[in-house]
Amino acid sequence: MDNKVWHDRLVSLEKNLNQILTEVHEVNHQLQEMMMEKAFISLENKKLKEKLLDYKQLYENKEISNKNKSSKSVAKGCLESLYNDGFHICNAFYGSSCLDNEECLLCLEMLDR
Ligand SMILES: [Zn+2]
Repeated sequence: MDNKVWHDRLVSLEKNLNQILTEVHEVNHQLQEMMMEKAFISLENKKLKEKLLDYKQLYENKEISNKNKSSKSVAKGCLESLYNDGFHICNAFYGSSCLDNEECLLCLEMLDR
């Protein structure tokens, strides 16, 4: 081969290498953007999971609180019925009958709670 052919091949090779180098830079740039996006999404996902746990905990606490309230009101209703049927519900005389339907201040205090 003469010098001209060598020179043309070298120019062509250099051109191809520059194209490949440009592509490598572009792919590297896109990869960095994807990694940053992944890190952002991971952080966002972690925050959302924490928020979800907070809401779940809040919901469960609220549910427990509502259950306690309802079971408390059911228990109070039972005590009230028992007292209206003529039985003491106070700690001092619990279960014994109220004589002549007398009012017991201790029982009334229990119902007021
Ligand atoms: Zn009583």
